[in-house]
Amino acid sequence: MTAVNSPRRPLPTLLPTSVVGSHALPGWFWTALEAIKAGTYGQTDVREVMDDAVNAAVRDQERAGIDVITDGEMRRWYFVQGFYGRFTGLEELPPLRTQGVYGYDSPPRYRIQEKVTAPSGLGIVEEYRYLVDLTDRAIKVTCPGPLTLTIHMQTRQGDAYGGDRVALAFDVAELVNRELHALADAGADFIQLDEPSYSIIPGKAAEWIALYNTAVRGVQQKGVRLGLHVCFGNLASRPRGRRSYRWMAADLLEARSDQIVLEFANREMIELDLLGEIARAGKDVGAGVVDVKSFYVEPPEEVAERVRQCLEHVSPDRLTLVPDCGFFQLPRWLCVTKLKNLVAGVGLVRRELEG
Ligand SMILES: [Zn+2]
Repeated sequence: MTAVNSPRRPLPTLLPTSVVGSHALPGWFWTALEAIKAGTYGQTDVREVMDDAVNAAVRDQERAGIDVITDGEMRRWYFVQGFYGRFTGLEELPPLRTQGVYGYDSPPRYRIQEKVTAPSGLGIVEEYRYLVDLTDRAIKVTCPGPLTLTIHMQTRQGDAYGGDRVALAFDVAELVNRELHALADAGADFIQLDEPSYSIIPGKAAEWIALYNTAVRGVQQKGVRLGLHVCFGNLASRPRGRRSYRWMAADLLEARSDQIVLEFANREMIELDLLGEIARAGKDVGAGVVDVKSFYVEPPEEVAERVRQCLEHVSPDRLTLVPDCGFFQLPRWLCVTKLKNLVAGVGLVRRELEG
């Protein structure tokens, strides 16, 4: 079944802007989340709060002038943590550390009890259906990649995966594949998988890309454009992996994706030659030119200078400009300011190109 979606606003032919995924949470939303956690909100109240949070994220992106928007991932919790409730076969274990600053050792962990399934899907189709009626902008749907979805799961000798995380991740990749096909059938035409874990979980990049290719199997054939975002982690605005793409670059090119989205601003624009390699492999690139891990506000002129640096390696018809990663860990005013400066900076270069 293919839904007929309303026509989308056309994209600029050169240098479209987008976001990587999450939007900053409004202050009132944090207050509401506390009330929901305390059990004082009814089901209808919760739905209204979640809808209003998406409405705010979409309106912020539209007003900033972003060309390809998301729903801000407002219905999710800490990027992947909200998904574990949708899986069966897991036993929740308490966090290793509950005191002090929140970090990568703070979330709950999940021990494998039996093979992992997601009988009601991952919930992303429902997110998409709400978004598509809300905006006439082009839409990107985001989904954590199969490796990243396993990051809080533990497999050990004697369980259904025998301690083999890759085997576990291939099962999760099949669950992601089912969700992506359901998204395509619902009318989604641009889906990005997010994999900060390539640089975090020890292993081989070729295996990570095999997981990606399993997760997207048959989806391009339904007319869906596919993205792959790889970063180094963003929990509490801190990276976790070694911040270089060089070791995985050759394997990244083997991903069956139309676009690869990488972070550069927080790394002082190093490794830009990768953009040329990706473009020569026939893929588009999304380049992070706004730092989501810093309170420093890049003025439009500085964003424009970063875009010009990218254009030394890739032609403007292949380049989308994005923030480095999601904005979940920044205050909303700062997120909105950075989005506006992204659009203004890209606009400066676009006008130069159009002469
Ligand atoms: Zn990221």
